Amino acid sequence: MTTIKSYDVIIIGAGIFGLSCAYACAGRNLSVLVVDAKKIGFGASGGILGAMAPYTPDQWHAKKEYQFQALSTAEEHWQEVDGLSSLPSGYGRIGRISPIIHERVYNLALTRHEEAKSNWKKFKWNVIKSHELVSPDAAPYGLIHDTLSARIFPSKACASLAQACSFMGVEFRENTYVSNFDTGVISGPWGNETASSIIIATGYEGFDSLEKFFPTSMGSGVKGQAALMNISLGDAPQIYANGVYVVPHYDGTTAIGSTSENKWTEPHDTDVQLDELIERARIICPKIKNAKLITKWAGVRPKARRREPLIGKVPMADGIFLAMGGFKIGFGIAHKIGLSLADLIENKPNDLPKSYTIEHHLEKN
Ligand SMILES: Cc1cc2nc3c(=O)[nH]c(=O)nc-3n(C[C@H](O)[C@H](O)[C@H](O)COP(=O)(O)OP(=O)(O)OC[C@H]3O[C@@H](n4cnc5c(N)ncnc54)[C@H](O)[C@@H]3O)c2cc1C
Repeated sequence: MTTIKSYDVIIIGAGIFGLSCAYACAGRNLSVLVVDAKKIGFGASGGILGAMAPYTPDQWHAKKEYQFQALSTAEEHWQEVDGLSSLPSGYGRIGRISPIIHERVYNLALTRHEEAKSNWKKFKWNVIKSHELVSPDAAPYGLIHDTLSARIFPSKACASLAQACSFMGVEFRENTYVSNFDTGVISGPWGNETASSIIIATGYEGFDSLEKFFPTSMGSGVKGQAALMNISLGDAPQIYANGVYVVPHYDGTTAIGSTSENKWTEPHDTDVQLDELIERARIICPKIKNAKLITKWAGVRPKARRREPLIGKVPMADGIFLAMGGFKIGFGIAHKIGLSLADLIENKPNDLPKSYTIEHHLEKN
């Protein structure tokens, strides 16, 4: 006789979105199973960069407010998670410095300094003349220094969150590819598992499986490469300069990222594009000039159809929810996405911005 085990929620995909949903649902006393085709944090979330950076503080709207709420509560969230798991996520609110290379941007930055006072509350957007980490040649008009940005160590954050979830009673099943979830039953040699709610958090690979629900493709994968260097910059702010990130980590390493590739064939290979990025980073930040390379890493970001995260209940399907499309900001918003999914499942009001909704993604561009 085939056994059927029943959960409140089954989550497909154990990346940062799936794990964050699991944590939030377990926090509401829902029984949760997380299933992953490979391993916890194997997808885009298993990386090394981990910049958690905000939108600019001007022209405020719902999407900026949602992300601001996520970033400003992240510290408390990760303290709680790390406290439960006794593992380090590597979270730290170190801020960010960005060189200014045009006078126009300098003038805009001064205006944004004023806007931050009302929209960012206790966090600051300052314009500074120079910073010891950045070559003066790279910052002819000074730098923007914000105190809201943070860093995390992505693969370690996934491990910490998964451990915390386990302690809260979440069950995990790795090495289990789910091909059919719209019946609400997940089957395998171990038996059948069923849930009243299923959250699809399958990263870029999951967009194809949504074809049965939607008349159009809901997203694609954008590859990225990053590197980890053996140099400690302590709790110095991360640098963002013209597409290059330099992120000081808690463990005496520093990450450099990342490429953005719409065309790719091998999801995990690194190549000369990363070497070029490392060279650019060494010029911007002379302190890392002679730093030794520890490792190179590549992954594929899930980019939803209209670039924004794709979150919500699938219309016309019973109890199926999407938590996808974190693209370049997945780690900064993940814990709030988890809470929003738990709200949707429990039929409670939520503050998801319209641009994250399935309806928005289905609108014509
Ligand atoms: C180089 C690089 C640098 C980045 N830098 C940053 C950064 O600095 N800051 C930031 O916030 N974000 C960054 N990102 C983006 C961030 O990593 C993503 O937004 C985030 O990891 C997406 O998480 P996810 O859970 O949606 O997807 P994933 O982490 O990809 O997880 C999806 C999971 O679903 C599983 N899965 C897929 N299909 C199935 C199936 N059918 N059955 C079962 N399991 C399945 C996969 O095995 C995988 O484990 C970066 C990404 C890359 C590649």
